[in-house]
Amino acid sequence: MLLSGADQARPRYDAVVVGGGLGGLTAAKRLADGGRSVLLLESRPRLGGYATWFRRGGHIFDVALHAFPAGMAKTLRKYWSRDLADQVMPLPRIRFENPEFSFVTTFETGDFKLLLRDRFGVPEEASEAFFQACRKTEHFQDASESAGSLLDRHFPGRLDVARLLLETVTYATGCNPDDPAMVYAVVFSNFAWKGTHTFRGGTDLLLAEMERLLLASGVDIALRTPVEAIQTAGGAAHGVLAAGRTIAAGTVVSNANLKATCLRLVDMKSIAPAFADEVEAAPLSASVAQVYLGLGPGEAIPEIADILFSSREPRYDAAAFRAFPPRSVSYSFYYPRHIRPDHDRTEIVASMCADYADWENLSPGQYREKKEALIRAVLADLSRHLPNLEKKLDHAEAATPRTLERYTGHWRGASFGSKYPGYLAAEKLPRTIPGLFHCGSQGILMSGWLGSANCGALAAGKAEAYLSGGQSHA
Ligand SMILES: Cc1cc2nc3c(=O)[nH]c(=O)nc-3n(C[C@H](O)[C@H](O)[C@H](O)COP(=O)(O)OP(=O)(O)OC[C@H]3O[C@@H](n4cnc5c(N)ncnc54)[C@H](O)[C@@H]3O)c2cc1C
Repeated sequence: MLLSGADQARPRYDAVVVGGGLGGLTAAKRLADGGRSVLLLESRPRLGGYATWFRRGGHIFDVALHAFPAGMAKTLRKYWSRDLADQVMPLPRIRFENPEFSFVTTFETGDFKLLLRDRFGVPEEASEAFFQACRKTEHFQDASESAGSLLDRHFPGRLDVARLLLETVTYATGCNPDDPAMVYAVVFSNFAWKGTHTFRGGTDLLLAEMERLLLASGVDIALRTPVEAIQTAGGAAHGVLAAGRTIAAGTVVSNANLKATCLRLVDMKSIAPAFADEVEAAPLSASVAQVYLGLGPGEAIPEIADILFSSREPRYDAAAFRAFPPRSVSYSFYYPRHIRPDHDRTEIVASMCADYADWENLSPGQYREKKEALIRAVLADLSRHLPNLEKKLDHAEAATPRTLERYTGHWRGASFGSKYPGYLAAEKLPRTIPGLFHCGSQGILMSGWLGSANCGALAAGKAEAYLSGGQSHA
């Protein structure tokens, strides 16, 4: 049932899910499908978290629907419905434009192998060995090798090849050569397995359908209802406090940011100091700034790509990716009737890695001016690929790391949650507070649309085991 607030909730549920991002939504669905009574509390007026969208005039902008791996269809089929899975569609025109190379790829392993052979002169055995290593992630159990070292081991001294294979993961997640090879390899090979995909109908259709399915599964949902605290009794999670009301629960699954969950929502006295230190020390992923551009009615552009990775950096340089004004930008193109068959306008979303520090502590006037400078920088860059674009626009606006933080409570606007140490900490959380499970963006592995949804399903499995008295802390 869709509740108007926490006051309509029952006094007790088997499970309370804090936050309705893709992880929380999937956890709630799994638990309800297993016969559990479930309450989902979301602080925003709408479900989805980062997987969101908004309207401006005749435009619809997708905030985080740029690309996901083909595996999303399997996840949607397994945990949601066949109809949703059937909406997953390929996005095969991925374009690179930078001082070192310029071409379009389908982003599939086979296409990468051809590019490596024909454009980069890499022997076939070398690229074969690299893709095999990426697939055999058990080789990376100890996470001691870095992504940079993995690439250098397979393509010694080839910074251009490293750029081809790593840069897109940097654009998307802020992943850099120092991150564990395991993390990079899993994410990259997930995407390259069958190429990049998107959701036909857009984020709005996906979320409307997810909400419908949750209600059909019996989940109680309260929007505009921030959880103020996760309560414990005898050291174990026991319920939540929302809108001044205590709601008891057999288990709590938190989809809120990991640091917010452990250091803000839980009473610090119930957390071992060493664990609190570990969570505190877990580095956050980079943040993102975006510029949303809409073309006027009847205006069109050539279909140059589905996604364009445009960089003016002479060499791959992960740190330079967060520079302001941006020199490396990814553009997602939403052509008329492409992703949304009934939508006849063109939208472009520009995304770039950003540092929260560059945006905090600005006065309202400085903040406004900096957003305008961001829009100008993006338009200048994009006009290199689409001359005269500016004259066709009827909408331009920017979002910053501060916008991201305001919308989801992710600390410092981290767009992919925590880096890998956060994933390890999240795994330990139920051993520290039995009955409390975290799901959602952790360590890139459990991030993005696919990782977060899968993380929600995993957390639901652990919560279910806990409720049924099985292995509760795994
Ligand atoms: C700009 C941008 C672009 C992206 N593009 C892509 C992409 O193209 N492909 C891809 O795969 N991934 C992309 N991602 C990443 C992906 O969107 C996220 O990893 C994923 O959606 C996160 O899901 P989550 O389960 O961690 O929940 P989140 O999206 O983090 O949502 C958490 C939810 O919890 C709620 N919440 C927090 N605290 C409380 C509280 N105390 N009480 C109640 N509710 C609370 C929040 O309001 C929010 O709704 C992008 C991310 C960003 C920021």
